[in-house]
This record gives sequence, structure tokens and C-alpha cells, in this order.
Amino acid sequence: MGKPVEAIQPDTDMNALILVINCGSSSIKFSLADPAESRHVLSGMAENLGQEAVLSWKGIAKDSRDIGDADHTAALLEVVNLLHELGLTCSGVGHRVVHGGEHFSGSCLVDEESMEALRAHQHLAPLHNPVNILGIEAAQEAFPGIPQVMVFDTSFHQSMPERAYLYPIPYELYEEHRIRRYGFHGTSHRYVAAEGARLLGKSPEELCLVTAHLGNGCSAAAVKHGVSVDTTMGLTPLEGLVMGTRSGDVDPSLHQYLCDTLGMTLADVTGMLNKKSGLLGLSGSSNDMRQLLELAENGDKRAALAVEVFCYRLAKSIAGLVVGLGHLDAVIFTGGIGENSLPVRKRVLQLLEFLGLKEDPDLNAVHGREHQGRITASENPLAMVVNTDEEMVIARDTAANLPDLS
Ligand code: ADP
Repeated sequence: MGKPVEAIQPDTDMNALILVINCGSSSIKFSLADPAESRHVLSGMAENLGQEAVLSWKGIAKDSRDIGDADHTAALLEVVNLLHELGLTCSGVGHRVVHGGEHFSGSCLVDEESMEALRAHQHLAPLHNPVNILGIEAAQEAFPGIPQVMVFDTSFHQSMPERAYLYPIPYELYEEHRIRRYGFHGTSHRYVAAEGARLLGKSPEELCLVTAHLGNGCSAAAVKHGVSVDTTMGLTPLEGLVMGTRSGDVDPSLHQYLCDTLGMTLADVTGMLNKKSGLLGLSGSSNDMRQLLELAENGDKRAALAVEVFCYRLAKSIAGLVVGLGHLDAVIFTGGIGENSLPVRKRVLQLLEFLGLKEDPDLNAVHGREHQGRITASENPLAMVVNTDEEMVIARDTAANLPDLS
């Protein structure tokens, strides 16, 4: 165990704080946010759970400590201790939950009924939802009596019309098994659409936007008058754009073909499409856009090819999403790549020039957190960079869903 942290004098004017939890299989990311001020007070991570776990944090205090072989519950109890030592409290806990199926079209309070519905949807995201449920149960133990709220990656896209969410396969598969397109990254698309509108001095209801969330996972969405009308991810986060290690769209016959010709199993192909494809598979060297751009700059042809396929498919998808909008006011770039990678934005805008998008090289020379806003010479339509903040969406939704105790 590390040294005790120095207690700080809490700000007496501090608003009610919300603890946001994003639970992975061996890690928990957390952020203590002040949604009224759109401010993160403290954020951190417990990594390597179950082995030699480490809790680290930054914000109003910065440090790390070993937390032994802590599991999810023990790690959250360490977060409770940390908040206590820092003189901080939270009035609600918000959980990122990957898949809410059709049942959850918005965020909701954790109670017996919502937990039962969530458990009934585990099969839709077998890698993610069970660990999200574990996180909620662990937080219920660690923060007894504090209300908890679940916020879904999928719910923003529940407004998609049938024509966008149905697969052209036998309709009974939808009716009986709810096999359809759901979409993900909803908190990010929702945040940057609202923030983009704010930066443009408009209300989201006035705008037709394509939002491109480009991180390790990538998806784009058509956001018409503030609601999602289409998106690139589907039943699972494998569909759509080229990603770090995920292929995005491939021929649906690929599984069968690889099984027949190379003797691969279904699980082999699924693993390959999720973990060894995308930027990594094409380049053969990295899933990291920054590294690939450096390699390409130094003459690595496969790295350059991976970046080009990434940009081409992205541009093609953005143009396709405009069909769902019927009109385009702005394309918004966000996520690690969208916020930081000037060459990717430049190439995508080049490919989309026919839509009237014209890069302004000086404006496009923006970097991540330092600057956001328009990057095109054209204003109608325009393209812009907006820094995403998924945790703030979760904090705001949590605050909005807390029971009124007055
Ligand atoms: P996650 O989806 O895991 O949250 P991020 O949103 O942090 O991921 O995005 C990670 C991606 O952002 C990586 O491909 C990384 O290379 C890329 N990235 C981060 N900074 C830069 C940069 N300065 N230039 C190009 N790509 C960058």
C-alpha cells in the first residue's frame, strides 16, 4: 500500500459531485465530476485487477498506490477510501453500460427492475455487459445508500428509423430475437453534437450533423435536429468503419469462406476480425494511428495503405450518412484520432470536397485539447473538431436521474 494522501480542504461551494465508473474486465476508470460546472474534479484508474493492481489518480490531487490483488469490489472500496481521504463525497454514481438493447432508450436509475432487464440483455454484449453488471454490484457494496444510474452506449441511437436499423434478413429474426443494428459510442456522439452546436451558436434542433468518433474503436453517426438517425456500428461494435484492430464491414460470407478454404473455426475468424484486423491487420505493424502516420512518413508502404483505407472508408461512410440527413451542416471529428490527427482530417476532407467541404490548412493545424472549432474554409457545410467528454454526459445524466429526496 502507498502512503496516505494528504487531505485537502474541500471547496465549501462545491456542487453535488457524481462519480462516473467505466468498468472493464481488468480495470476500472473513474471520474469525479461536477456536472453543474462541466468540470472533472478527480479522475483515475484501477488497473491490473486481481493481480498486482494499481490505483492512480489526477486532478485536484495526483498520485498512485498499489492495491494488491484487489478485485472490482475491493478496488471500488479503495476509491471510496481515496475520496474520504481527500475530503470528497459523491451524491450519485453513474455507470457506463455498453448495451441496453431496445429496452433502454435513455439512462435510468439502478433498481431491481432495471437490473433484471439489464441481466436479460447480457447476451447482446457478452464481453462487456457482464462486467458492467459486476461494476454496478460492486459499487452498490462500496457506496451503500448512494443512488446509481446506468447510462448506455446504445440508447442515443434508439431514435434510428426502421430503414436504418433493420438488416435485410428474415424479419422474424428481428421480431423474435431483436437482431438489428443498435450502434454504440452514443454518449460521445450525443456530447459532440450538442457541443458542436453550442460552438456554432446554434441549437442542435437546427442542425444536420455527421459526427465521427475516431478512437481505438471508430463509428460515425448522422444526427438530425439533435437525434441519431443512422450510425455505422450495428448489432455489435464490429460493423462499420476501419478501427485499430477491428475490420469494420467485410463480406458476410467471409466467415464461411475462411472456414472452407483455410480450415479456420468461426471463433478464429471472429477473433481475427476483432483483434488482428483494421489498422493493425493492414499495416502489419501497429493499431496506433500516430505510429502509422510516422511510419508512412518514413516510407512504410503498408502503413500508408492502412491510413488510406481508413480515410477512404471513413469518407465513404460520412457521405453515406448524409443520405440519412438529407442535408449537411457540419462534419464533426472527435476521439483520439479525430481530435489529434491533422493528416487524417485533411485526407478525409479532400475525399469529401464534392460535398462542398474545403479544408483550411491553418485551421486544421489544431491539436487535441488545445483548440477546437472549424477546420474548413467553407462554412456551409463546414467541418470542425470537438473534444469529446463521455464521462461528462454520464455525470449529467446521473444528476438528472437522481431521485428527488426533498
Ligand atoms: P479509446 O478509443 O481507447 O478511448 P482514444 O480516443 O484515446 O482511444 O484514441 C486512440 C487513437 O488516437 C490511437 O490510434 C492514437 O494513435 C490516436 N492518437 C492520439 N494522439 C494522436 C496524434 N497526435 N496523432 C494521431 N493519432 C493520435
